[in-house]
Amino acid sequence: MVRTIELNKRQERILEIVKEGGPITGEHIADQLNLTRATLRPDLAILTMAGFLDARPRVGYFYTGKSSVQLLTENLQKIQVRDYQSIPVAVNENVSVYDAICTMFLEDVGTLFVIDQNTVLVGVLSRKDLLRASIGKQDLSTVPINIIMTRMPNITMCERDDLLIDIAKKLIEKQIDAMPVVRQSEKGYEVIGRITKTNVAKAFVALGAEE
Ligand code: ADP
Repeated sequence: MVRTIELNKRQERILEIVKEGGPITGEHIADQLNLTRATLRPDLAILTMAGFLDARPRVGYFYTGKSSVQLLTENLQKIQVRDYQSIPVAVNENVSVYDAICTMFLEDVGTLFVIDQNTVLVGVLSRKDLLRASIGKQDLSTVPINIIMTRMPNITMCERDDLLIDIAKKLIEKQIDAMPVVRQSEKGYEVIGRITKTNVAKAFVALGAEE
């Protein structure tokens, strides 16, 4: 899914040859480099998979004319939410603030999604929502989360086939850490995943490092 953009000297040289003389067969590229066709095969495979070159049967290799930056951008535009989403952690709207804090620690997440008895999304709870509710003197085990959560219809959400880049922009725009990945049913929105800034960071690292 992600292409490397670090090319070695020989791959750079092949690119130059194809740029100047393409379309050109593997045989002819090998001749120009005084190498065998077999030696070149892995390099040609890499350059083709990475999108720098295209190969046509009986015609040979030709240069696609795309820069590393263009290829990187194209790859970025292909990453979908489904490629990086995590498992969501949901709690029922009737649980107490105390229980929600315990769940947040036990599940090691920073955002909880709140669902009703039909497992339909009704709210979102962040760390700060829970901290804010803990500042007062009320007994946390008797305060239900549905009075402190951010509720529908004010929830920012996404779907599995949304582009990760668009969702990352939304996280920044809305100044939130996470959003639920939802699927619409007759009942409402069902939570099927979670996208956080960590997922976006993982995609970023993979894009820069994956070979
Ligand atoms: P924190 O407040 O712990 O830093 P966030 O920045 O994610 O975490 O949350 C800020 C506020 O936005 C909180 O009140 C939270 O309920 C709300 N919030 C978090 N995620 C969403 C979302 N996906 N849609 C709407 N509101 C959200």
